[in-house]
Amino acid sequence: MTRDERLNNINTIVAEFCGKFGCRVSRQGEFCYIEPLKMVCYELDFGHACRMNREFMASVKRWKPQIKLNVFVWSLLHELGHCMTWGNFDDEEYERIYKKKARIWGTKATLPYYRLPDEMAATKWAVEYANTHKAEVKEFWEKLLPEVDALFALLRKG
Ligand SMILES: [Zn+2]
Repeated sequence: MTRDERLNNINTIVAEFCGKFGCRVSRQGEFCYIEPLKMVCYELDFGHACRMNREFMASVKRWKPQIKLNVFVWSLLHELGHCMTWGNFDDEEYERIYKKKARIWGTKATLPYYRLPDEMAATKWAVEYANTHKAEVKEFWEKLLPEVDALFALLRKG
């Protein structure tokens, strides 16, 4: 199978999972959520080393996950969490939050970022969902992992 076929398989599995929440997916760019489109963007970065992942994982642990998941799955659940908690904040609150985000992006600090109310709400939703849907999340991950392994083996071969 080619790299693109593997990427398509991965995208199908991710799209099927996110589709259950009424979200579509894009593998362009970085992890993010775009509200008017109900679009979850993801990237295939499984590294645990970078500071952002470490601080993100610390923010996940605050909500006491009862299941061990890869940072990719937590990131995806977090983006779905933005969709599921979008209505928790009104336009005025989002305006305030996004002003803060713009300042934080300038400094590249990630710790205050994950403490913003919408980020905390998304992560809290992610952990609560994982805790109450362990079988679904595990099934998703077990479906995805062989495809990802195969893709990375292909990429290593060059
Ligand atoms: Zn977020």
